[in-house]
Amino acid sequence: MAWLNTNHVMSQTTRFTLSQADIPRQWYNLNADFPEPLPMPLHPGTKQPVTPELMTAIFPENLVMQEMCPDRWVEVPEPVRDIYALWRPTPLLRAVRLEQALQTPAHIYYKYEGASPAGSHKVNTAIPQAYFNKVAGTKRLATETGAGQWGASLALACKLFGLECNVYMVKVSYQQKPYRRMLMHTWGATVHPSPSDQTNYGRKLLAEDPDCQGSLGIAISEAIEDTATHPDTKYSLGSVLNHVCLHQTVIGQESIKQMEMAGEEPDVVFGCAGGGSNFAGIAFPFIQKKIKEGKNYRIVAVEPSACPSLTEGELRYDFGDTAETTPLMMMYTLGHKFMPPSIHAGGLRYHGMAPMVSHALKLGLIEAQAVHQTKVFEAGTLFARSEGIIPAPESAHAIAAVVQEAIAAREAGKKRVLLFNLSGHGLLDLSSYESYLSGKIQDV
Ligand SMILES: *Cc1c(COP(=O)(O)O)cnc(C)c1O
Repeated sequence: MAWLNTNHVMSQTTRFTLSQADIPRQWYNLNADFPEPLPMPLHPGTKQPVTPELMTAIFPENLVMQEMCPDRWVEVPEPVRDIYALWRPTPLLRAVRLEQALQTPAHIYYKYEGASPAGSHKVNTAIPQAYFNKVAGTKRLATETGAGQWGASLALACKLFGLECNVYMVKVSYQQKPYRRMLMHTWGATVHPSPSDQTNYGRKLLAEDPDCQGSLGIAISEAIEDTATHPDTKYSLGSVLNHVCLHQTVIGQESIKQMEMAGEEPDVVFGCAGGGSNFAGIAFPFIQKKIKEGKNYRIVAVEPSACPSLTEGELRYDFGDTAETTPLMMMYTLGHKFMPPSIHAGGLRYHGMAPMVSHALKLGLIEAQAVHQTKVFEAGTLFARSEGIIPAPESAHAIAAVVQEAIAAREAGKKRVLLFNLSGHGLLDLSSYESYLSGKIQDV
């Protein structure tokens, strides 16, 4: 048995699992603890704070109340917890083999949200959004999706609660990323390439340019128009809004317990940031500990250099969509007409950033970094080859920042405890890895 290294004993626990009873019973609302209140969204015409009445045109009242909720804790309804139990609590692991590959004294932990049926964190909010709509009497949901992660998550959630799901998918992804479109079909949703012939806005854009490839901003405008023109239909958004960030806090709450099981506290917490929701999910419960218990974690949002809203955008009121139909939100933005270059992390191509994440950055509670694509795939591949899981290109942004920090720890000869959110797996992004491996990925 020469192949068996008898000196090697599995000396440490590396996987920290909670039981079903540990699925959080409440979501955490950072708005209750911000040292300065979050600026209100404004009506684009009157420039006055938006009223709940205005928002109930497209969202059900129960979710509008959550969007504006001042309470620190919001109860997770039991039917939502029951569905969360299909994959939650998600595991938290120590990436010992990545540490060895990097020869770093840093301890690297990750929370794995790719364990969900749709393969990412997005179902954490799709399920409660479908639930609250069902309770409010909604029959049909309209939404947009970029690369398809959000559309797939909402398709599943709608099916589980008996709602129709109508998805506007950015045309370039609809054509180039067929598998998530197929996921949506499998879960029973209707999917249109956007711009589409289903809306006035889509028809106008197609008349101007039949080859228009679409963008997330355009697809949002189409989904909102669909909502306004169909009975019993509401709109659903997969990131950016307060209630979405709220729902994602199950990630950070579980992580805090799991880090306690590991007997360590993170020095730095990382999450990739597109609209900001998975980052909010892991970060906000740790920010609460910063504010309430005086902890001094560093909390880092990692974004693509090609769409750098936090690191190069302006903090100001801007629209959430291209057609200027949403309320104005105070956020770091590249401008609502910004057309991000096509990068492989489709989920990070949004012109703005969640107002709550933007506010946290403004108040100095978090920091932001931008990373280039080539570094992202280098880190994602290293992670796959040491830990096994192939990360989504979005999630690999967080890994790239972690790798950099682990190397800095090695150079400084310092032990640091690093924690990141692995927001999803990359099993439907293999063509991007293939491009990287054949040297075809460039920085834009
Ligand atoms: C959609 C997506 C993101 C980006 O969205 P956020 O709202 O910023 O979290 C990140 N990772 C994965 C795997 C995604 O699907």
